[in-house]
Amino acid sequence: MTKHERINKLKTFVRNPYVWPGGYTQIMLASDGGGICHKCVKENFRQILESTKNAFLNDDWAFEDTFINWDDVDLHCDHCSERMPAEYEDSVEELGEQMREETLKHQSYEDEIDV
Ligand SMILES: [Zn+2]
Repeated sequence: MTKHERINKLKTFVRNPYVWPGGYTQIMLASDGGGICHKCVKENFRQILESTKNAFLNDDWAFEDTFINWDDVDLHCDHCSERMPAEYEDSVEELGEQMREETLKHQSYEDEIDV
């Protein structure tokens, strides 16, 4: 992405954090690799814009890109530390439940053949 494209993407993102189609919430990827939630991007838009325009500021606020948190259930905003929920959180939990049931089934099977 060129600087110009990044600035445009940042402006689009600050107006609307949701992607279409799907309605997933995007998160800002900062130049230092951290994730910043939409609320913080909105609150610090001027600073982020300046940093993105002036790479020499090098203050970690520059906009790199956006991303969607699919399955990291422990992802926190680099700025406000608020947790940014994963889009697939429900299915991750469901999967965990399924695996637990499978393990229980397996265990009772082993108990049976032990007899
Ligand atoms: Zn935040």
